[in-house]
Amino acid sequence: FDLEQLGVHDSVASVFPPEELADFLADLPVSVDVIGDDEISDCDAVVTIEHREAFLECDWIHSIQAGVDRFPFDEFEDHDVILTNSTGIHGRTVGETVAGYLLSFSRRLHDHVANQQERQWHRPEWDEAFTLPGTTACVVGTGTLGRGVAETLGSLGVRVTGVRRSEEPVPGFEDVYANEDLHTAIGDADFVVVTVPLTDETYHLFDADAFETMREDASFVNVARGSVVDQPALIDALESGAIRGAALDVFEDEPLPEESPLWEMDEVIVTPHSAALTRDYFRDVGELVETNVGRLEADEAFTNRVV
Ligand code: NDP
Repeated sequence: FDLEQLGVHDSVASVFPPEELADFLADLPVSVDVIGDDEISDCDAVVTIEHREAFLECDWIHSIQAGVDRFPFDEFEDHDVILTNSTGIHGRTVGETVAGYLLSFSRRLHDHVANQQERQWHRPEWDEAFTLPGTTACVVGTGTLGRGVAETLGSLGVRVTGVRRSEEPVPGFEDVYANEDLHTAIGDADFVVVTVPLTDETYHLFDADAFETMREDASFVNVARGSVVDQPALIDALESGAIRGAALDVFEDEPLPEESPLWEMDEVIVTPHSAALTRDYFRDVGELVETNVGRLEADEAFTNRVV
């Protein structure tokens, strides 16, 4: 297709100012503008975070997120619309966020921050704090996020194992299990970290059985998508002591409703779907878009193509 008009949809403002990305792309040999819903029909291609019906009349849609579960793949295919995503750019950001969660659990930082709000000088019990070397994290999903998590946790001395769709080894992971061996993989880990896309196969992958399989002193981390987890089952597991704690960046319902019991649990860290945020986000997305505009001109296949 001919690319003359590329729009940066204003929905990306929840992650970075759309103008920053439009400026970054200004040297491309196409016209780049920040657009609202009314201008979608003027564009051949749109960079966006949200889906709109009107995208089905464009030739190419680029998602600034890696997760594209909100886009209707069948309709894109029926209308011959190319969909690309932003996998590949979130390894370091999410890796550092997960390292932060684990350091909070081990060094009790979340307790100290909570106590500080109350001007309370409370030291942890003698056996609450620990160090990370000697602990094991099972990372479920060994793609960009999983590898970024393995790199940061590995550098902190954590033994990292992984789960993917095959047993093929992955650099940075001491052992790799196939998805049918999920319960064996998570059974003896101190931390279970979820980094898989949300698909029909991974919907509610973490259910009551999975939490029952985890160790009672283990903590659960979800930086993937809320619906990979049966959230009521997770809440039950935390309340009954089937697992010790959780760090959660994503939820079945976002923003997490005010009445959710997760907000008030001592050993639960809630972050607002912010694990991948960085002031460089627009640049990382911009480089992906530039690469694909270059490929289009050279008549080569797009990178990160989903549909
Ligand atoms: P990748 O495509 O790079 O990696 C996906 C990994 O998941 C692969 O290792 C893949 O296995 C594995 N996988 C897929 N299906 C299954 C399954 N049924 N069982 C076990 N493993 C499976 O994606 P990214 O790492 O870039 O992103 C992963 C997801 O994380 C995104 O889809 C998004 O939803 C979420 N995300 C969340 C962010 C946040 O802000 N919290 C930021 C970025 C992403 P295999 O290696 O065998 O192919």
